[in-house]
Amino acid sequence: MKPAPFEYHAPTTAREAVELLAELGDGAKAIAGGQSLMPMLILRLAVFDHLVDLRHLDELRGIETRGDSVRIGAGTTHSAVGRSAEIRSAVPLLSRATPHIGHLQIRNRGTIGGSIAHADAAGEYPAVALTLDADFEALSPRGRRTIPAADFFTGMWSTALTEDELLTGVVFPRWEGRFGCAIEEFARRRGDFAIAGAAVAVGLDADSRVGRSAIGLFGVGPTAIRARTAEHEVIGCAASEISAENVGRAAVAELGQVPSDLHGSAEFRRHVAAVMVAHAWQRALEEALDD
Ligand SMILES: Cc1cc2nc3c(=O)[nH]c(=O)nc-3n(C[C@H](O)[C@H](O)[C@H](O)COP(=O)(O)OP(=O)(O)OC[C@H]3O[C@@H](n4cnc5c(N)ncnc54)[C@H](O)[C@@H]3O)c2cc1C
Repeated sequence: MKPAPFEYHAPTTAREAVELLAELGDGAKAIAGGQSLMPMLILRLAVFDHLVDLRHLDELRGIETRGDSVRIGAGTTHSAVGRSAEIRSAVPLLSRATPHIGHLQIRNRGTIGGSIAHADAAGEYPAVALTLDADFEALSPRGRRTIPAADFFTGMWSTALTEDELLTGVVFPRWEGRFGCAIEEFARRRGDFAIAGAAVAVGLDADSRVGRSAIGLFGVGPTAIRARTAEHEVIGCAASEISAENVGRAAVAELGQVPSDLHGSAEFRRHVAAVMVAHAWQRALEEALDD
């Protein structure tokens, strides 16, 4: 199948792009790597009269360490994120999430901004951004604003961005000290979206008690989800006394309605999610203990 006809626009600055989006209204859509949008257009699940291509916006690309955080331009490809030594050192959870995204060809074109703006509930980058309390930088004709990840994902494939707003960058805080992180997911085939997955970061104090913990789940709700009660329950506990299985059970107990479809029933997804949290918790904790 072919997409319905559309008019193609190729702005060269982000300001020009948002002005175009504002002028063209809801018949227009930004396109970055096209790895989510093109299949939707080709299958005619979405039809737009105008596509505003972000490919020529050099200002959207790049990785920059800024003291206690790392900023990644929204147009940076998954592959560039995966290859970056800066990200591997400052935000290892993001590096480890990258190989789980689709296949090499998809990672070579898909962008971190596209993945986050697309907001698939089973996407790895939205889940990692939520788990690590990233901030999203947005630009519209009205100016710039910063949206915390906790306020960004509003529902299935929907976000706090307005129609004329672009994501320009993602800022990840660095975790310092003794910490470990891990991402685990279950998919039927390598490269498929996860049926259920978990991203975990855990920080230990000098006595090996949990000082910080962050647990994110994906594929088990309309958006990625933080298991905040389970996170708080382990704070102050000795690492050696925490049962990973209990952490998994506690995280899943917080879930609301879990989707049920041909890939798996809600009950199956809950079970898989608990196992993924337990595995991720165990790996993250072992890494923190080795630090
Ligand atoms: C076979 C296949 C398997 C895949 N598997 C996975 C997987 O396992 N995990 C996973 O997470 N993803 C997966 N993907 C999706 C892939 O990661 C996409 O690259 C990503 O979701 C979208 O990035 P993109 O740059 O291609 O965005 P596009 O497809 O160009 O755009 C997606 C959406 O984001 C919007 N958008 C893009 N950039 C911006 C911006 N800067 N500001 C505002 N809005 C913007 C667009 O308007 C559109 O609505 C898969 C895709 C395919 C085709």
